[in-house]
Amino acid sequence: MQLLIMGPPGAGKGTQAAKLATRYGIPQISTGEMFRLAVSAGTELGKQAKACMESGKLVPDEVTVGIVRERLSGVDCAKGFILDGFPRTVAQAESLKLILADLGKQLSSVLNVNVPMEELIERAIGRRICKGCGATYHIKFNAPKVEGICDACGCDLYQRADDTAETLGKRLRVYEASTRPLIEYYKAVGIYNEIDGRQPIEKVTLEIISILENRGA
Ligand code: ADP
Ligand code: AMP
Repeated sequence: MQLLIMGPPGAGKGTQAAKLATRYGIPQISTGEMFRLAVSAGTELGKQAKACMESGKLVPDEVTVGIVRERLSGVDCAKGFILDGFPRTVAQAESLKLILADLGKQLSSVLNVNVPMEELIERAIGRRICKGCGATYHIKFNAPKVEGICDACGCDLYQRADDTAETLGKRLRVYEASTRPLIEYYKAVGIYNEIDGRQPIEKVTLEIISILENRGA
């Protein structure tokens, strides 16, 4: 099962990808999380990504494609994976096709989580992430049992540096210009599914599972 979950920033891609990863026993591959880990570890990749992320721009395609190529060749991806936040440009989608072809694979399903603009802002501003395990919460829609503490591992939660109203505005414009065209791209490939992301988290998960398990992926 080679899945791609896409949608604008704050739509719920990461939240759903984590649930699908657990259900199907396949890894969630989030380029955003890979970049955040690299930034906090101060690696060369982190240095390349930091300024782009802070200003709401995309990290250059050649850098992003490089880390995905390496990650997808990992043994844990042999039975499948869920791409979360990659590809974000048509050029990245073309590179992905070649990477997968080299591995003798192809995407089985694309899930596009659709959420109106006003809701995206509220979701991103209220997002909190666990410093330890990376779990995602929301101060209103998915609050932890104890404020500021992860239910799963007990570590502190933090707010992403790019989850400000200003940077989010920039990220949404980048989404419209560079990432939205992927909808037509994957419709043409014939593996595209639209998901109503306005529903509560559990309902979105059920909609995705029903698509995957009724049609096969
Ligand atoms: P993305 O990975 O698309 O940027 P996230 O999965 O991090 O989005 O979700 C963004 C924020 O919205 C998080 O705080 C998350 O808890 C919350 N969220 C995710 N899905 C829903 C939903 N269906 N309804 C309400 N809030 C949601
Ligand atoms: P995300 O966690 O998916 O919201 O991504 C956070 C940030 O990481 C983005 O705003 C970009 O700066 C960078 N990023 C993540 N994925 C990509 C990608 N596929 N291409 C380019 N930049 C990316």
